[in-house]
Amino acid sequence: MQPTTIAKILAASVVTLLAAGCGDAWTQDKGTLNPQPLPPLANPNDPKLAARQLFGRKAKPAPLEARAIGFYSKGCLAGATALPINGQTWQVMRLSRNRNWGHPNLVRFLERLAEKAPKVGWNGLLVGDMSQARGGPMLTGHSSHQVGLDADIWLTPMPDRELSREEREEMSATLVVRADRKDVDPSVWTPAHMGIIKTAAKEPEVERIFVNAAIKKALCREAKGDRNWLHKVRPFWGHDYHFHIRLRCPSDNPGCRPQEPPPVGDGCGSDLDWWFTDAVLHPKPPAAPAKPRPLTMADLPAACRQVLVAP
Ligand SMILES: [Zn+2]
Repeated sequence: MQPTTIAKILAASVVTLLAAGCGDAWTQDKGTLNPQPLPPLANPNDPKLAARQLFGRKAKPAPLEARAIGFYSKGCLAGATALPINGQTWQVMRLSRNRNWGHPNLVRFLERLAEKAPKVGWNGLLVGDMSQARGGPMLTGHSSHQVGLDADIWLTPMPDRELSREEREEMSATLVVRADRKDVDPSVWTPAHMGIIKTAAKEPEVERIFVNAAIKKALCREAKGDRNWLHKVRPFWGHDYHFHIRLRCPSDNPGCRPQEPPPVGDGCGSDLDWWFTDAVLHPKPPAAPAKPRPLTMADLPAACRQVLVAP
């Protein structure tokens, strides 16, 4: 193949993957004990205004029937509920971000997953970002997490005590990927890491799970017996301190747009080769980094306008 052809295929793959809407930067950003409210917008009705500026200022859910509206990376959320910040076997991290909101399906799902965690040797869940109170695009971090069906779970098990507010803002999750990025770090990776990812993947409500390619490689190597669940665990950039759970659209939310199912097969072996090529492991910074135009209200489903203006 011509090098230019290869470059084109690489670029196309990147675009496809980014369109799937799972960029999780900033997970390791620390929070603060004194979050400051954002200043009011001078022109909230400016049609060119980034929708993230509007949704990022909504601290409370829209008091409407619960609905995931649109696509994971282009939508919003009505009638969100909050995951309580403490449960028997879970704790919510980075409370200052106010992102422990979700569709009620997601909140119930996380409570059930947390209950199962100790049975596979995982002490409990540390829950990272879910969605904003009304979903929608965020001022920092993700391109997805917009419809209340995505959640990041730290690759650090919950400690045996209640974390302080300060710890929840300052603590860092565990990097489980080796320094050369080609495999997991055996000094931190445990069978329980696979146990909790497998437990989540086996839930019928789960549409996909995103992990770093090095983690996927380890799962492929270590999964014995039933390997059907590996199909749902997809490699993606980042996701080396946390894994990302994406639920299916709720059956009674016709305005929720599903994602194409993952390709057939377990996604192991040569399917992973591309992720470990030099171009992907050590990408050259582009001369002029492309800055995508932020989503405006006109880019989102019309129903998101009602979600935004609800009292
Ligand atoms: Zn995520």
